[in-house]
Amino acid sequence: MRSYIFRKKLDQYFLKDKNIAKKIVNNLSFKNYDTVVEVGPGLGILTQYLINNNVFLIEIDKKLIFFLKQNFPKYKNQIIHKDFLKWNPEEIQLKNFAIIGNFPYSISSKILFHILKYSHYIPECIGMFQKEVVKKIMSKKGEKTYGILSVLIQTFYDIKYLFKVKKNVFYPIPNVQSSVISLKRKKNDILFNKNLLFQCVKTAFNQRRKKLKNSLQLFDYVNNFYEIPFLNKRAEELSVKEFLQLTKEIETIK
Ligand code: SAH
Repeated sequence: MRSYIFRKKLDQYFLKDKNIAKKIVNNLSFKNYDTVVEVGPGLGILTQYLINNNVFLIEIDKKLIFFLKQNFPKYKNQIIHKDFLKWNPEEIQLKNFAIIGNFPYSISSKILFHILKYSHYIPECIGMFQKEVVKKIMSKKGEKTYGILSVLIQTFYDIKYLFKVKKNVFYPIPNVQSSVISLKRKKNDILFNKNLLFQCVKTAFNQRRKKLKNSLQLFDYVNNFYEIPFLNKRAEELSVKEFLQLTKEIETIK
């Protein structure tokens, strides 16, 4: 660690506390999957507790890839030099795996969207996020921070808040607070049109203060569009369950 120059641009804040690392890894349930993909392993503090399992590491920084290959030689074929946001699990025929990571802060929303994109392959995720992101994804209707990510994550996953992590256990010390959460996939995954749901939720929240009959004008080609329930509400007033109902209405009416 001493000789390494940290790249703040890549959100490199390395966890120093092994007990916390162990505690994070111990939250993986290994129920219904046997492969774990770690995002941004850095210097491998979480990785060291994962190596008895089938594990893949995805790291964007070439220098760290070199370091990881030296330190985990047995796994060198499972260390992938790639931007996670561009990684497609089908490239390595992965169809059922958990995600773990002390995620790079500035792209955590994008990471969550990437997980959502492949949610049919990902039954579980244990991860450390910036406090504000955790708040956002756990928000309920009516709250200021309730938005696209809250609805979409809560549609696909049950979220459990696990614990807070103090700033001083990282090197260098970040400006933000972090918390660890778990996401466990719900069973309703295939009961609705995922693309349509994404489109509805994104369009509705792009104009969150407008009534849905205005913000969702895009769907007015649908027969009897104005008979869909909830159209007099605003995006921020609609629960996750109601968004699902809305999607199903649009789909069946179409
Ligand atoms: N897991 C380590 C490192 C956390 S810092 C620990 O807990 O100490 C975040 C890590 O994510 C860094 O190693 C950084 O290089 C990596 N990273 C940043 N952006 C990434 C991306 N788009 N894809 C994959 N890894 C990324």
